[in-house]
Amino acid sequence: MSSTGSTISQLYCPKCGKQFSADEVHQLCDCGSPLLVRYDLERAKKTFTKENIGSREKSLWRYRELLPVKDDENIVSLGEGLTPIIPLKKAGSKAGIPKLLLKDEGIIPTGTFKARGAAVGVSKAKELNIKQLAMPTNGNAGAAWSIYSARAGIRATIIMPEDAPKITRNECAAAGADLYLVKGLISDCGKIVAASIKKNGWYDASTLKEPYRIEGKKTMGLEIAEQLGFTLPDAILYPTGGGVGIIGIHKALKELKELGLVEGELPKLIAVQAKGCAPIVKAFDEGKKESEFYPDSRTVAFGINVPKALGDFLVLDAVYETGGRAVAVSDDEILKALKELAEVEGSFVCPEGAAIYAAAKNLREEGYLKETDRVVLLNTGAGIKYPDTLSIEVPYLSKDAVL
Ligand SMILES: *Cc1c(COP(=O)(O)O)cnc(C)c1O
Ligand SMILES: [Zn+2]
Repeated sequence: MSSTGSTISQLYCPKCGKQFSADEVHQLCDCGSPLLVRYDLERAKKTFTKENIGSREKSLWRYRELLPVKDDENIVSLGEGLTPIIPLKKAGSKAGIPKLLLKDEGIIPTGTFKARGAAVGVSKAKELNIKQLAMPTNGNAGAAWSIYSARAGIRATIIMPEDAPKITRNECAAAGADLYLVKGLISDCGKIVAASIKKNGWYDASTLKEPYRIEGKKTMGLEIAEQLGFTLPDAILYPTGGGVGIIGIHKALKELKELGLVEGELPKLIAVQAKGCAPIVKAFDEGKKESEFYPDSRTVAFGINVPKALGDFLVLDAVYETGGRAVAVSDDEILKALKELAEVEGSFVCPEGAAIYAAAKNLREEGYLKETDRVVLLNTGAGIKYPDTLSIEVPYLSKDAVL
C-alpha cells in the first residue's frame, strides 16, 4: 500500500475551537476567523513515510495524505511543486551567511507560488461541486486561480487594482475569467467581492476565506524538509502579504513533527514586509497578537501590499512560536537586492523575493542570523513576471558599430 489518500478529518477554528465537517462548503468561522484543516495523522503515519514519498510523482501531489482532496479524479494539476532549492554561495558569502539557500518558486506554472494554493484550492472546490468563485487580488493569485479554474471548468470572477502587474491582467483575461479593475487597493476590491458574493451566492476564494489555499501553500514547508533530507534549516525568510505561505509552512512543519519525520526545534520563521506596507512588522514591534489596517500602503512588491491580513494573528503566532522576527525593508533595498542577486547568482527573482534577501543581509548585520546558520530564502515568483520593475538604461548601437 503506497498511499491511503487524503486523511482530512475535519475543519476547525484556531480562534474559538469550533469544528466543522470537511465534506460541506465552509468559509469563515462564525467568529470571523479563518478555518484550518485537520488530518488524521495516526492514519497518515502508515503510508506517509520518507521512502514512500520519495518514490512518488514529482509534484506537490506526492503529499497526498496531508492534502484535502479525497478523490484523485478531482485533482486539477499543471505539474506544480518540487521547485529547486539552490545554494547561493556567492551572495551568501557576501552577506556573511555561507549556507544561504534559495527555494525558487519562479519555476512553477504561472510563475509564482500562488499556483500551489490555486491547484489545491481549485481541486477542492471541484470536489465540493463549486461552479462559480470570486476573489480580489493584487494580480498573481487572480492569475493562478483563473488558470486552474479554466482547467477545472469553474467560472472565476476576479477583481484587481488597476496598477496590479499588467501581465496578471492578461493571464486572467486569457483564461476566460470575468475580470474587473478598480482604481483603488486590494481592500477596495475585497469589499466589492464580499457584496457580490452575498448577492449571488458565489464561492468566496478570497485569501483565507476558504480553508484549502493554505494547504496548497503548506507544501513549500513539506518540500523544504524533504529536500533537505528531513532535516530543518535554522531560519526561513518569507515575503509576507496575506501571510498564507508562512502560516502554511508553520502548519506543515508542525504536522511533520507530529508524524515523527523531523526532529528538533522548528526553524525561525521570519516574516518580511515592505516599509511601505508593514502592518505585521508594526504589530510585532509592539508585541501585539493582531495587526491594524496600514494606511496609504505602497510598494514595488505588489504581492505583499496587503494593509490588513485576515490571518495576521496566525502569522504572528508562527513568528512568536518559532522565535522568529517580522522585519521591513525599503523599496530601494528591494531594487538593489533584486539587481544584486541577478548579477551575483544569475537568479532573477521577483521584488518580493528580493525583499527577503535584503532582510537576510540586515538580520545578519544585526547579529540575529549567525554565520553558521542554514537559511532558506523563499523566492515566491519569477522576476520575468515584473518586466517594468527595474528601469535600466541600455545604450544603442548603429548598425555598422564594432565593439
Ligand atoms: C501573494 C504573494 C506574496 C505574499 O503571499 P502570502 O502568502 O499571501 O503572504 C509574496 N510574493 C508573491 C510574488 C506573491 O504573489
Ligand atoms: Zn471560531
